[in-house]
Amino acid sequence: MNAISLTHLTKSFPTAGRVVDDLTLRVRQGEFITLLGPSGCGKTTTLRLIAGFEFPDSGSVSVAGTDVTDVPPYRRPVNTVFQDYALFPHMNVEQNVGYGMWVARLPKREISERVAAALQMVGLSEKAAARPSELSGGQKQRVALARAIVRRPKVLLLDEPLSALDAKLREAMQVELRHLHRKLGITFLLVTHDQSEAMVMSDRILIMEAGKVVQDGSPLDLYDSPASPYVADFLGTSNLIPGNVHATELDSIRVKAVDALFRVRTRGRSLPTSANVTLAIRPEKTEVIAPESSPVGTPAQLTGRIIEHFFHGGMLRTAIDIGLPLPFLVDTQIKSAAMQGQQLPPGSPCRLRVDEDSIVAFAGSHRP
Ligand code: ATP
Repeated sequence: MNAISLTHLTKSFPTAGRVVDDLTLRVRQGEFITLLGPSGCGKTTTLRLIAGFEFPDSGSVSVAGTDVTDVPPYRRPVNTVFQDYALFPHMNVEQNVGYGMWVARLPKREISERVAAALQMVGLSEKAAARPSELSGGQKQRVALARAIVRRPKVLLLDEPLSALDAKLREAMQVELRHLHRKLGITFLLVTHDQSEAMVMSDRILIMEAGKVVQDGSPLDLYDSPASPYVADFLGTSNLIPGNVHATELDSIRVKAVDALFRVRTRGRSLPTSANVTLAIRPEKTEVIAPESSPVGTPAQLTGRIIEHFFHGGMLRTAIDIGLPLPFLVDTQIKSAAMQGQQLPPGSPCRLRVDEDSIVAFAGSHRP
């Protein structure tokens, strides 16, 4: 039985048009799944259709094997954690978490036992009497989580739940959410536009574009084998460079791109000789080398000039001019302090050695 099953789901708004477009999706019990895509691609609307805050124009929604397409939100076995937490400011933590059960007139003793268990689960037992105004952002987020899990929904929907937190806290909460998912064993569906958040937390990611799922897979699958330049550039960073198929071989092609000749795996795609292609090259799969350390004309190497280096903690990102409108980016792990001083200075000519096995070729020309 699937935890969530969406079948040919469609939803339009008068001003925005069709924002969910014939979406079919199955989520297994206990899965942590993420809808990832840029602002406006229909992620939140999909979540709201599952929660019952919106009703579809056509198609159906099932949760835990039951068709809930026409069922109001409070009768669905799902709960939602919102971006802004939506806590009641005049109630303390305990009252906020227990509110839904109080409205449903559950016995007092059961309410207090369940609230205590939920607060313990999110590590907030000692704040039971505090008001939301006395809590940090991370603590408020935990109250919202406790409130959402207190009645053990079959499915927990998370709508950009960490976006109001600062970067450090967000990372800590990502770990906590993942841990909570493991402890509870319920199905989590997260909506985010933050690709690193999606990669860290999910068992499976669905990339959305204009109301449709354009790729569905594990974080590693999507990263290593993006199905389109859109996915290649959305999940992590990719250098997208234009090329032309020079020759075809059994399961690879020779591609002339800028001043290099690459051998690229076709990955089952049909890319005939002289077809225009776009190559996606990951910054961490490329090495910057001094021009004198490789003879001119070595295939699989691009020629460029260093524009600038940027330090990102343990990693150095280098922007290189290879004669295209956008700079080519290379990421280098900084393994020792000595390595920091060994970079070619800005303005230096350089060559780029690319790990050809990691290159993905797409048919056609695409502008990033
Ligand atoms: P974001 O990350 O910005 O929330 P999203 O991918 O979640 O984006 P949605 O919130 O699903 O996107 O919105 C998709 C489109 O539908 C947007 O153009 C939005 O303005 C429009 N939209 C969403 N809800 C409504 C509504 N209730 N009435 C009219 N238009 C709406």
